[in-house]
Amino acid sequence: MTSVSLEAKPIEAYLVMSDDEIQERIRRSHDALGSKVIILGHHYQRDDVICHADVTGDSYQLSVAASRSKAEFIVFCGVHFMAESADILARSNQRVILPDLGAGCSMADMATIEQVEDAWRQLEETGILKQKVAPITYMNSSAAIKAFCGRKGGVVCTSSNATKLFEVYLREYDKIFFLPDQHLGRNTGVKFGIPLEKMVVWNPHEELGGCTPEELRSARLILWKGHCSVHGRFKPWHVDLIRKQVPDIKVLVHPECVYEVVQKSDLIGSTSFIIKTVENAPEGSKWAIGTEVNLVNRLAKRFPNKEIYLLAPDLCMCATMYRIAPQNLAWALENLVEGVVVNEIIVDEETKHYANVALERMIQLTEA
Ligand code: SF4
Repeated sequence: MTSVSLEAKPIEAYLVMSDDEIQERIRRSHDALGSKVIILGHHYQRDDVICHADVTGDSYQLSVAASRSKAEFIVFCGVHFMAESADILARSNQRVILPDLGAGCSMADMATIEQVEDAWRQLEETGILKQKVAPITYMNSSAAIKAFCGRKGGVVCTSSNATKLFEVYLREYDKIFFLPDQHLGRNTGVKFGIPLEKMVVWNPHEELGGCTPEELRSARLILWKGHCSVHGRFKPWHVDLIRKQVPDIKVLVHPECVYEVVQKSDLIGSTSFIIKTVENAPEGSKWAIGTEVNLVNRLAKRFPNKEIYLLAPDLCMCATMYRIAPQNLAWALENLVEGVVVNEIIVDEETKHYANVALERMIQLTEA
């Protein structure tokens, strides 16, 4: 199958088809491609897309699942950094497709490689790098930033293994330079008893990140000024309100939420932790969940005998994830049936190599 000699079907025709026709076309092309394709669906994906996924999971679980499959084509219903991670972990004969190239991640976009390299240079010039500083990046970052961490002795982490990796790096290094989610960094640092005044925030738009050399020297954590626009919508008053409205409710939130929300909650954990906690909860238990709305709604449908609420009454949807519509999926699959690869995500070999170094380090340290 090649992408050079054939012309791609234009997407416009799909935008005017009925929902039923689109769903039918996805099913037909998925069947026609058989084991040649694997469709991956992130937990935050909408229902009319995730129903076609061969595997559902969080970003890391999906990339690993893809690399272990024999499929030649990996159609990633998620966002850009996830498709990049799949390409980094994929075997050389696998090709990764993102059905809409506009599906980015606002958090990942808050740290560019140029900004990160500039910050590192400033840390070096200020003498901060005479101390042992480890760059650690959250999975939700570009391949170039993962590769930067790989080159500098750092690592990639997920929300499931951040605690384990902080434990290792805090033991061996003077400080961690954490990218790009300040909240995951802060919420994890707190677990190790690091006081808030030893965590400084690096603003990439200010000289020295807006910190003084002394603040940087005495910090244990330098937190990049990034956040998730979805999880950032949960506020401490949402926790107070739901506790007042629903007696005995437990509040369960993702660590991308702000520190003040996490402090008021009963449990904090990754997407997988949230799902497992609800699965194992007794019937009749009540949960207010602070994460993406599609996942919360799906849990509520799956467990009608448990009371499940979204922590915030307004819509907390990942708008970029939502860009992967059934129309995009039908278009990508039907082009594949015709032998045309659209929206392929390719990470260059050098970046892939160093990003893999950081990912392999993560796997080794997590399993150690
Ligand atoms: S939920 Fe937040 S961190 Fe996750 S993909 Fe969407 S914007 Fe990015």
